[in-house]
Amino acid sequence: MKHFLPELPYASDALAPRMSKETFEYHYGKHLQTYIDNLNRLIEGTPYEDMPLDGIVMKSDGAIFNNAAQTWNHTFFFLTLTAEPVKMPERLAAKLAESFGSADRFREEFSKAAVGLFGSGWAWLVEDKSGHLSIVQKQNAGNPMTDGLVPLMTVDVWEHAYYIDYRNRRPAFVEACLELTDWNKVDGRLV
Ligand code: MN
Repeated sequence: MKHFLPELPYASDALAPRMSKETFEYHYGKHLQTYIDNLNRLIEGTPYEDMPLDGIVMKSDGAIFNNAAQTWNHTFFFLTLTAEPVKMPERLAAKLAESFGSADRFREEFSKAAVGLFGSGWAWLVEDKSGHLSIVQKQNAGNPMTDGLVPLMTVDVWEHAYYIDYRNRRPAFVEACLELTDWNKVDGRLV
């Protein structure tokens, strides 16, 4: 099956000023589109051709994994953002308090993990099989599903995600992403 850019519930300038239209157009329109084009080209004539995207992420390696996981990760990232900030649902706040002490402590820990990730990659909030929430760092195209974890939210900390708007200020970008996060969607992913 062919893979396509995900349709998003907001316009390209809707996340500004936290994420500018220029950043969005490069990140979603060019970077993500390139991963998708590469993936479609690489899977042609292979057993991955008819597999859903998450199946490819779970089973592939090398260039196919890199492009499939970057397609999955970016789709998940962009679908988690919202132009109209929402209050965190009680259930999610309680789950975060259980695992991190409070929702504010979670935000601090998450920012620390995202800012502290060396090089390119993704910071993730995940749920494990026992229902415990934790934060994991993944290098490059890494995706926590391959470790048996359920992704709840993520922030892209590749430089291409923030350099136009924030230059080297990764902490400011991570803070902006937390402000743009649709906590209702995160809550809806709890197992
Ligand atoms: Mn990216």
